Amino acid sequence: MALLEVRELTVLYPVAVGLSAFFSHRFLVAVDRVSFSLPERGTLALVGESGCGKSSTGLAVLGLLEHVRGEVLFRGKDVLKMKGRELREFRRRAQIVFQDPYESLNPKMKVKAIVGEPLAIHRYRAGPDRVGEALELAGLSPPEYFLEKYPHELSGGERQRVAIAAALILKPELLVLDEPVSNLDVSIKAGIMNLFRDLQDELGLSYLFITHDLADAFFLSDEVAVMYLGITVEKGKTEVVLSCPLHPYTEALLSVAPGSRKEKLILAGDVPDPLNPPPGCRFHPRCPRAQTECAAEPPPEIEVGPSHWTRCLLLAQGKRHDET
Ligand code: SF4
Repeated sequence: MALLEVRELTVLYPVAVGLSAFFSHRFLVAVDRVSFSLPERGTLALVGESGCGKSSTGLAVLGLLEHVRGEVLFRGKDVLKMKGRELREFRRRAQIVFQDPYESLNPKMKVKAIVGEPLAIHRYRAGPDRVGEALELAGLSPPEYFLEKYPHELSGGERQRVAIAAALILKPELLVLDEPVSNLDVSIKAGIMNLFRDLQDELGLSYLFITHDLADAFFLSDEVAVMYLGITVEKGKTEVVLSCPLHPYTEALLSVAPGSRKEKLILAGDVPDPLNPPPGCRFHPRCPRAQTECAAEPPPEIEVGPSHWTRCLLLAQGKRHDET
């Protein structure tokens, strides 16, 4: 059984429209029927541009959002239906590391209090041993050197390691990593990425890794799901999807990645307004391979190889992109 099975996950945000007293609410569909599974000790990367719905997916998986539909099965139990003790226990077993340690750490708290806080929240016995152990796991050694420090006395990399220690202290099974290295310098980032790999080997963790960086996805993940405007457009084994992409959006992302030798596929315009997504294929206004029929109907998700799925009408019709 997969550790995490997400089925038809939909996330809605209420948005006020109109003026002053006459405004009404509409719902913005940030995530639209997204499905994937994450095996134990596995890593799934959610990739895509800012605003594609990947962070909303991560927060919804942790049961942290309202207006969520679908199923999020953690060891077969639906997180979206959990309450009370069962939900608290899930929250112990599933933790998050955010992008920005400057914002995620309370500047008025010392490291020992920040890392020990989850123990207090979950009413576990706090103690310097548990905190020190978590700091060492996160690569902050010797822990005594860090316990009495405030976040502003630490480097960016050390701050992110403190956030990781706080996520590890409850001995979770699942970590949602929400752009955890995108605010860090290249040299520091490499150390943190290696740390995630080592922790996975040592502790058997599973990661839902949210990133806009395909090189990072390639480094850390076994499987990848590429998101565009709230839907997954391509998913499968990372090695397959990122070395032989079939969806034009994945192709375009890869072609402009640093160091890419592929012919650049430049996307026209910006990501459309998610309140008014384009009809048909959501990607058609920007797709360099769009045909007239692409605006007419949404492409179905089709399996194009072993465990390799994509949504493109041309592929569904059996036309390869180099024939268009
Ligand atoms: Fe591009 Fe058409 Fe395929 Fe959408 S369906 S990705 S617009 S070719």
